[in-house]
Amino acid sequence: MSTLKGAKWVLNDLQKNGFEGFIVGGAVRDYLLREPLNDIDITTIAKPHEVSKIFKTKPTGLKYGTVTVFMHEETFEVTTYRIDGEYQDSRHPESVVFSETVIEDVQRRDFTINGLLMNAKGEIIDYVNGKEDLAKKLIRTIGDPKDRFNEDALRILRAFYFQSKLGFQIEKETRDAISLYKDKLSDIAMERILNELLKILKGKHVRMAFHSMVTTGVHEVLPGLKAGIEYASKMEEFPFIDAFFALAFTLNGSVPKAWPFSNKHRHKYEVASKLAKENDYFDAYTLYTYGLELCTLANKVNYMLGKSKNLKNKIEADFNSLPIQSDLDLKLRATDILKLTDKKAGAWLKNLQTEMVVEVINRRLKNNKESLEQYVLAKLKG
Ligand code: ATP
Ligand code: MG
Repeated sequence: MSTLKGAKWVLNDLQKNGFEGFIVGGAVRDYLLREPLNDIDITTIAKPHEVSKIFKTKPTGLKYGTVTVFMHEETFEVTTYRIDGEYQDSRHPESVVFSETVIEDVQRRDFTINGLLMNAKGEIIDYVNGKEDLAKKLIRTIGDPKDRFNEDALRILRAFYFQSKLGFQIEKETRDAISLYKDKLSDIAMERILNELLKILKGKHVRMAFHSMVTTGVHEVLPGLKAGIEYASKMEEFPFIDAFFALAFTLNGSVPKAWPFSNKHRHKYEVASKLAKENDYFDAYTLYTYGLELCTLANKVNYMLGKSKNLKNKIEADFNSLPIQSDLDLKLRATDILKLTDKKAGAWLKNLQTEMVVEVINRRLKNNKESLEQYVLAKLKG
């Protein structure tokens, strides 16, 4: 937790040492909107090594002039005034150039609502008309939007993130530039795109953001999400993150390789879409094989697509009443089978266990030692 009060302490200490500094960015914006504050960023004329002489610090992003300051159990990201250097491509600012004026520092920032400053007295200083856009609820780039998206295409997704978080409209010129430069997103690393997309998905106004993605055509440049974003932007209730991806990839037919999901998540989306396509309902063996989470997710996809009822409760009840939930639950162990049959372990053993699981799951065989022994002996004879 970091507070404005703590940040003002940092500003005062900077000032005592002869350095100008301001609170900047999201914290000022959210304070004026009376929204809870995330992290607090401070911008200052002091160079990182000078900041480190005054406070207890950790070098977080020295390359960009950022150190983390620790103050009364709170932390602040303190960054030296910067002008962003010539952009080589959308991926890397070629160089970081420190600046002597805060005006240059705010001009490198993305949107007017993120370019507001607050001094140690709590006064707001506005060089970019941020207050006006905040009042009008508008997301507008600082400077020519074409240049700003050309420099860094990630700002396109950041515009949708702030829309999803705040419910603001994207100003027309900014929106037109997004349409024009959307293909530049292919220059950005997919990790950063996914990261920004996840932030969009967590916003209160995500449907509004998805609607804008459709009108600007940005949904077309996100691999495999076009149909999902179109569909979800019209849904009454927006699905949670996993349900959204499962829905989108079911509509798309596959999970594109480009997305850097963890193996666990990729598997979840692949299996849930396959299950959704193949099943209206999940029989005992499917529930046993794929488990509760994936079957529930697949049903949710079909429910959202209007292909099935919401069967969450039934699926849960059916899963909980399965005779066994894993082959370890069989009352006859592999070692028991070997003893009983006097045979050496081999592929036959696994096959036999699988058959027993199928019989038990379908309630054609009881899961007790005696019944299972009889089943094994009859199999071997036959
Ligand atoms: P929140 O923390 O609530 O998500 P924020 O506005 O603080 O929103 P951050 O990602 O924390 O956003 O960035 C802090 C500030 O840095 C922004 O307010 C903006 O001024 C600037 N900024 C961040 N990313 C960019 C970018 N890609 N281009 C230009 N300025 C940026
Ligand atoms: Mg922030």
